[in-house]
Amino acid sequence: MFDGLRYPLPTDESKILVCPACEGKNRLPLCRALEQPDKARCGRCQAPLLAPRDAPLLIEATSYRHPLDQKATEALEAIPGISSLLRKLVEVTSERYDRLFNQSSYVRVSDRQFPHILRQFEKVASRLGLRELPELYVYGSGEANAYTSGVEKHYVALSSVLCDAFSPDELSAVMAHELSHILSEHVLYKTAARLFTFAAAELAKATLGIGQVLLIPLQLALLKWDRCSELTADRGMLLGTSDPTLCLRVLAKLACGSRRLSEQLSLPDFMQQALAARQAPEENVLDKIYSLMQTASRTHPFPLWRAAELWQWSCRGDYLSLLHPSRVRNSTPSPSGAATDDGSEVRDAETGSS
Ligand SMILES: [Zn+2]
Ligand SMILES: [Zn+2]
Repeated sequence: MFDGLRYPLPTDESKILVCPACEGKNRLPLCRALEQPDKARCGRCQAPLLAPRDAPLLIEATSYRHPLDQKATEALEAIPGISSLLRKLVEVTSERYDRLFNQSSYVRVSDRQFPHILRQFEKVASRLGLRELPELYVYGSGEANAYTSGVEKHYVALSSVLCDAFSPDELSAVMAHELSHILSEHVLYKTAARLFTFAAAELAKATLGIGQVLLIPLQLALLKWDRCSELTADRGMLLGTSDPTLCLRVLAKLACGSRRLSEQLSLPDFMQQALAARQAPEENVLDKIYSLMQTASRTHPFPLWRAAELWQWSCRGDYLSLLHPSRVRNSTPSPSGAATDDGSEVRDAETGSS
């Protein structure tokens, strides 16, 4: 299935979803489900087959973790005492420095300061089921970027160019990506990866390169993990928005970098390039690319790879099972979206098309 993955999807690919109300099986064309999830309805009783775009979801972060993230995390956690060592290191260094730095140079988003951004942030956090809203900051930067940090007290920071050049929907998608890092408990290792990049350079200077040799294996493991964690957070971005096209456009804009050229970006061409790049190399080649990029300073590398990975995940349809109405918080218990092959009748779902 989906050997020659295309963008957009051909109309004959479909997924069978079980109706939460009448338990009837529905055949839902994937392209319709990806484009307009709100319109997917049961062919027998017209109940919605997917959670509405703004409904608060109840999804375990482990249920959408990317396998490369899983693998890299296991490799990292195989290092004895790694978690407590990094926690201590972060606590005595960047945790204190970060708070001081944010308070003196970033603008804190609040009810009085950019309240529209705060409302958006609250909405996305509620959608993804975050229990506690992290602090949100805007910082001056010419690069469209965002990051999440703060091990004891999480915060999200958005660059000024990101706020200027991205539409409100695109900004929400970026917020969903960042909040997914928190839900997936990525923040300690991400902070440590950033800290190590800085510390290794400082240590190399102080010890004429000897200290760097000692730090490199741990740094490489952390940086590899860091890049893999992006793939999970991209899945969170998709769940947070239910809009693959929006998420892919965000990745295309991040790849392009130019505000002016972004307006002329062709998403189909971008996706063709991304999917062609994905065809050849498999995981071991990806590993090599990651290794080559270890020292690169970009925190969100390979937007094209990420776009291809995200598109593939969308098209497999697993993501639609995570958007089944039974996953909406406070919904009444009902059968899950996964259909079993019990020979019962399968109807065509209604999709609001003429
Ligand atoms: Zn039904
Ligand atoms: Zn990220």
